[in-house]
Amino acid sequence: MHRLLQLDIDVTLLEAESGPGGTWYRNRYPGARFDSESWSYTYSFDDDIVQEWEWSEHFAAQPETLRYVNYVVDKFDLRPHMQFDCVLERAVYDQDRRSWTIEMADGRVLTCRFLLPAIGLLSAPTMPAIEGIEDFEGPSFHTFHWPDEGVELAGKRVAVIGTGATGVQVIAEIADKVGELSVFQRRPNWCAPLHNAPITPEEQAHIKATSDEIFERCSLSPGGFIHRPIRAKMAEVSEAERLEFWEELYASPGFGVWLGNYRDILTDEASNAAFSAFIADKIRSRVDDPVVAEKLIPKDHGFGTRRVPMETRYYEAYNRDNVELVDLNETPIVSVTATGIRTSDCHREFDLIVYATGFDAVTGAYDRIEFVGVDGQTLADKWQGSPINYLGVGAHGFPNLIMVNGPTAGSATTNFPRGIEASVDWTTDFVRAIRERGATRVEANAEAEQDWADHIRQMYDLLLIEQSPNWMTGYNSNVEGHEQGGRYVIYAGGLPRYRNELEEIAAEGYPGFTFD
Ligand code: NAP
Repeated sequence: MHRLLQLDIDVTLLEAESGPGGTWYRNRYPGARFDSESWSYTYSFDDDIVQEWEWSEHFAAQPETLRYVNYVVDKFDLRPHMQFDCVLERAVYDQDRRSWTIEMADGRVLTCRFLLPAIGLLSAPTMPAIEGIEDFEGPSFHTFHWPDEGVELAGKRVAVIGTGATGVQVIAEIADKVGELSVFQRRPNWCAPLHNAPITPEEQAHIKATSDEIFERCSLSPGGFIHRPIRAKMAEVSEAERLEFWEELYASPGFGVWLGNYRDILTDEASNAAFSAFIADKIRSRVDDPVVAEKLIPKDHGFGTRRVPMETRYYEAYNRDNVELVDLNETPIVSVTATGIRTSDCHREFDLIVYATGFDAVTGAYDRIEFVGVDGQTLADKWQGSPINYLGVGAHGFPNLIMVNGPTAGSATTNFPRGIEASVDWTTDFVRAIRERGATRVEANAEAEQDWADHIRQMYDLLLIEQSPNWMTGYNSNVEGHEQGGRYVIYAGGLPRYRNELEEIAAEGYPGFTFD
């Protein structure tokens, strides 16, 4: 919105929540914090904010990030252009007027020429398809809806279902605050230590003095992080050298262990297996009970082929007397009852149930709004299977709909603000080009869209990402049609490549779009 206002465009931001922040407005569960270095997650487009804002920790917690978003909103005086509590239900393209009509849940109707959804990749939470969820009489909620006012945990018997990046953060944070904790795990994930720490005054000064270098480094890495794979392949170094390097990585902060590794760790099965064995031994060394340790070690996929949850004393939580791991492969959940959870072997009573069960990722937020394009076609119909669009920006049959980081865009696998800024820069230029041409209708062409879909499909072959279904392969066991994954929903080729492709398209005058 800030960039469009600078172009003197009449723009209004509609937000479903009661304040700005998106992910950081909603996810208020204990333990919610960055996995990216705070100072690499910050906006880079304005040097004033880079110099003014001081992060307190290398990996900031949610309340601080929410304060940061509000600080940026006020710094640029954006609030007057924002309307909150606007839940969009339907958006219909009017072919004659070349405009979108937006219908909101509270009955209000708005029209606009161009509609720019910036509705997020992980903003449509999903509850598990388990019988009896409604019957539970105590408090229960998805982590996304953790109550704003907080929850009393002391002495409570708590269940957490789900062990993705969210579940891992919650479990590690609350294990020593609750009475008893039962973790219901279906598939374990490979987790690695975050090594968070406060930022010292000397570090703060260094971060500010080197911010340009930090952003430059991020812009060159596939994920937009400060970490990038080293040049060598694993097989090119001796075993002693690689073990020493891996020990260093495991002891260092952030995603280096995943993204700063040998360059074939995520592409070559043998290298991936060797590193997975190294991490498996780390898990064994941290969990006292060898049976529990084995249950926490993934067997269906290699390290880093799914998103690596970062943790602080997560594995040690299972050494506590008040924490129990329930392996759902051995004893599946049968139902939720009025007082607890029944598995195939017994019934456990709880005071609180937490669902850390993830999101209908990437396409879910789009599916929850009925977008109706040319000739009554809906986006949900068009996107049955994998989402088909051009550059993650435009969809044929849906003129004047300009997605910001839509499905298949390059930000899903990045340090989000780095991917987001790349898209926002490009979108701003695109809007400027539309205005300069005096176009009132712009649409992605069907052929360009198909070429892009083929390209997206090929990108998946570059990585081992498809080893095991996860949200980046369009999997969600609780959403009809997504249970198997196998959908091509993200751009897996890395941020520099995506940015180059976008820049080429802009330099060539936006081939693949028809301006009218
Ligand atoms: P997720 O990775 O999709 O994990 C969902 C978990 O719930 C999985 O363990 C899943 O098991 C389990 N689950 C789902 N339905 C179930 C059912 N019916 N019965 C039992 N278990 C069930 O979701 P998430 O943890 O919310 O993370 C999503 C993404 O959000 C992350 O990958 C990351 O990109 C982002 N995130 C970022 C941060 C950060 O940056 N700090 C923190 C949290 C999340 P299965 O694996 O067996 O399906």
